[in-house]
Amino acid sequence: MKNIIFIAPPAAGKGTQAKLVSEEYNIPHISTGDLLREEIVNGSELGKQIKEVINQGNLVTDEIITDLLRKRITAKDCQNGYILDGYPRTLTQAKIYDNLLKELKYDKGIVIFFDINKDLAAQRTINRIICPNCGSSYNLLIDELKPQKENTCDRCQHQLHLRNDDTIEIFNHRFDTYINSTKDLIEYYRKLNLLYCIKVEEKSAQQIFEEVKRIIND
Ligand code: AMP
Repeated sequence: MKNIIFIAPPAAGKGTQAKLVSEEYNIPHISTGDLLREEIVNGSELGKQIKEVINQGNLVTDEIITDLLRKRITAKDCQNGYILDGYPRTLTQAKIYDNLLKELKYDKGIVIFFDINKDLAAQRTINRIICPNCGSSYNLLIDELKPQKENTCDRCQHQLHLRNDDTIEIFNHRFDTYINSTKDLIEYYRKLNLLYCIKVEEKSAQQIFEEVKRIIND
């Protein structure tokens, strides 16, 4: 069973790698942010509570997130494994997750940390452009993510725009917050010998994917 945790700062290419791994190994990509948003869209009582917490910029309680996660990872499509994204976010969640894996008799799994330096992440972030019409996302710094025709969406031919939430100030805050909040987690998994670190540097998505596969197949 391949259960894999992805830890990655903003702009490290986690979304691209998750998609590639998911297709290669036929395992789902589980983002806890998405799980929570689905619950909100369902309009349940729980969804209403979650919406309030997220809108205030807080973390959802460990109890809620663990219940949702337990349901998700025991679903049929997770039998061969899954990629976990956005969980665990704290040391407490990591310990809860360890117990959950033991209880379900699942493998301990592995943790892949995509290590990107802040300057490169900043450059990638401010070069990110989106299509305001269909939501497609591009990046002028990454060959695989450039639009085929300059400033034009490949999918719908609409003119592309810079993402206005990708300013350098917002980026700096998001990046620093992420690094601070994951330091303990990374240390925790390093001590357990479950951590694999990939240096993103100027590598292509395909080169990084080769490294990811080597780790998973090991
Ligand atoms: P994300 O899409 O990962 O940025 O998550 C969006 C929001 O969902 C976060 O700001 C949190 O409020 C909540 N959230 C996502 N994952 C977790 C988690 N593991 N623990 C608690 N709250 C979470």
